Amino acid sequence: EIRKVIEDEITRENIKARIIPVGCIGSCYAEPIIGIFKDNREGVFYGPVNKNLTRKIIKKNIIGDEIVKENILGTIWVRETGTGGSFFESDFMRSQSRQILRRCGLINPEDINHYLATGGYTGLLKTLEMGADEIIDAIKRSGLRGRGGAGFPTWLKWDLCRQSDSQERYIICNADEGDPGAFMNRSLLEGDPHSVLEGILIGAHTIKAKKAYIYCRAEYPAALEKLEKAIEDLDKIGLPDIEIIIKRGAGAFVCGEETALIASIEGRRGMPRTRPPFPTTKGLWGKPTVINNVETFAAISLIFQKGVEQFSSMGTESSKGTKTFSLVGDVKRTGLIEVPLGTTLKEVIFDIGGGIKDGGNLKAVQIGGPSGGCLPVSMVDTEIDYDSLTSAGAIMGSGGLVVLSDDTCMVEIARYFLEFTQRESCGKCVPCRLGTQQMLLILDDILQGKGSPGDVETLHEVAEAVKAASLCGLGQTAPNPVLTTLKYFREEYVEHIRGRC
Ligand code: SF4
Repeated sequence: EIRKVIEDEITRENIKARIIPVGCIGSCYAEPIIGIFKDNREGVFYGPVNKNLTRKIIKKNIIGDEIVKENILGTIWVRETGTGGSFFESDFMRSQSRQILRRCGLINPEDINHYLATGGYTGLLKTLEMGADEIIDAIKRSGLRGRGGAGFPTWLKWDLCRQSDSQERYIICNADEGDPGAFMNRSLLEGDPHSVLEGILIGAHTIKAKKAYIYCRAEYPAALEKLEKAIEDLDKIGLPDIEIIIKRGAGAFVCGEETALIASIEGRRGMPRTRPPFPTTKGLWGKPTVINNVETFAAISLIFQKGVEQFSSMGTESSKGTKTFSLVGDVKRTGLIEVPLGTTLKEVIFDIGGGIKDGGNLKAVQIGGPSGGCLPVSMVDTEIDYDSLTSAGAIMGSGGLVVLSDDTCMVEIARYFLEFTQRESCGKCVPCRLGTQQMLLILDDILQGKGSPGDVETLHEVAEAVKAASLCGLGQTAPNPVLTTLKYFREEYVEHIRGRC
């Protein structure tokens, strides 16, 4: 609607202007956002705008010589060397380090020239001159760990696949982001699809794959559209001889699990299988396959565009680089953020998110989506890195971060996430299929005031059994929200049973 207003105004006033559609710049709390660049290099960002404010901005900023002061998010300048301006000094942006997301919201994702003009595909060109050993060594030195959740060293995955005895290898980009509250991968694909394609091409070149698949959920039509256009443009400029195929996922959460994802691409029902063999030796069509997620591939292009040292200078000893998160829930400023690993939850919630909205207090933060855990306010100084989060009982996951205020019922939150994983359980193995169902029944009893004193122990026991005995990551992590709320908010379960809630 806002775009239509702009189009109508510039036509009516006969203004010579270009409208450039961009992806999400991350400040979701201030959407819809428009940026006015009058001299092509420096501009002003506004948000949130409505139709009237948009008309006023066009009239005063473009036609006149005034600058509207309402809802200014900041100024911005764009040079060959990068971007800057007061927008990046705002409370929301200041503590972030936008590396993976550096182009999102600033370039037209459907124009390959925008990507090329900002250093795009220089990483690929460098790697085409390098041998596989050299590329893998560079990734090893960068310290990059897979951004899909488990944090497996990327170099090792690539090396295992490359060493496998086969003439045929595949590379798969997992874009099946399905966690409630997570939208990092979608935003990256919508805002900067070429950065992901460049990483995929570097991977294919390294492991000598001739075919790459992008498994993207069909619920992401805009991301799919941008990807299709990007692949088309890439074909036109004639980059390496690698076929990139988009496979649409039908929205099953379990298809984010790599063996289920492979089954789905092969046309079978998306169900995990036991491992080993791992996909690096026996993957798609039984051939060695590398599967990485969207952000990992974008990190690969970043590493080769900007250098190993620049990447490894950010983060902690064991978790290098930055990580994108979707910051949602009860914070004042929600959005798509990127911080160096090692940043504390407190910095994210208070410095970037602006604290709890409507005068509330922080109660907990749910990190890692339905497979993650709920950490209480007392753990707000926990650093966001793979190891600290795992020791706290949560997981990094792919990057969902839900902030909860003190009027949240933690038993209901545990039930909300468990209901999701229970519904998404593929049913192949008993502990997950029946265990999550039993857990949900107990939680329902507790929440409906029908709980009995032994329920908390039974719930704990079943949760531990599901975690220990399930076949794949979905079942192994599904109890996490229950286990962490039992650990940190046990009294809420007990009070529900006593009938006080
Ligand atoms: Fe399917 Fe759950 Fe077993 Fe995974 S753990 S194979 S999702 S039933």
